[in-house]
Amino acid sequence: MSKGEVIVVGLGPGSADTVTPQAGAALRRATDVVGYGPYLARVPAVEGQTRHGSDNRVELERARHALELAQSGKTVAVVSSGDAGVFAMASTVFEALEGARGKDYGDVDVSVVPGISAMLAAAARTGAPLGHDFCVISLSDNLKPWTRIVQRLEAAASADFVIALYNPTSKERPTQLNKAFDIIRKHRDPITPVIFATAVTRPDEKIETVPLKDANSVEADMRTIVIIGSSATRMIERDGRSAYVYTPRYDMESVR
Ligand code: SAH
Repeated sequence: MSKGEVIVVGLGPGSADTVTPQAGAALRRATDVVGYGPYLARVPAVEGQTRHGSDNRVELERARHALELAQSGKTVAVVSSGDAGVFAMASTVFEALEGARGKDYGDVDVSVVPGISAMLAAAARTGAPLGHDFCVISLSDNLKPWTRIVQRLEAAASADFVIALYNPTSKERPTQLNKAFDIIRKHRDPITPVIFATAVTRPDEKIETVPLKDANSVEADMRTIVIIGSSATRMIERDGRSAYVYTPRYDMESVR
């Protein structure tokens, strides 16, 4: 029996032309593809390949299933949107691998193919807001307590990082994004640019930039990434088109 493997593949933010050639090659080579249903739908059909769709809440089971398939000799692609290592399946696959000490996934190779994460796609659409130090926080409290999120928001805001917020809101979590803005407002100028980038690279893409004082969670849904500027982030207005947003490479304030 041939030695199986798991390849964790980031599919990019949505459009077919943001799937890297390396990801495309891994998807064509796979005998089996494992992932959340809507992500599987983005994988081009390959004859003879088996698809294993699942709900988004059963990540660890999905990872174990992928490892078991690989153990039986299959080449298994586990797919995530964006980059598979950013709030996505790569960690879950390693967690399953490590948790299996008593169970032998011994011979299974795991590799990770990087993808364009939502923050990078959103940043490129607006200019260069992530051009200097930034940090990334998921607002979801499904996998960590809200108190932890508040602590990190306070720390990031007071340290003047540009902040990218993943999972900003959902039907079950309608209030957290506005709470996050309230925390950040304590530390930032009211005119700080806030980018709401929704469904980036997809047909229904929508991008809005508003000053922090007007930032409101009604602009966001589950497909939105929010980027909040630092004190150095700037805007270049354009006639009839959305402004460019960028953060300069230099940030000499604190050493003056
Ligand atoms: N691994 C993914 C992130 C998964 S978490 C990545 O690297 O992009 C899911 C969150 O990602 C969403 O709630 C949203 O905040 C963000 N996201 C994913 N795709 C997006 C897109 N096309 N446009 C804007 N945000 C997106």
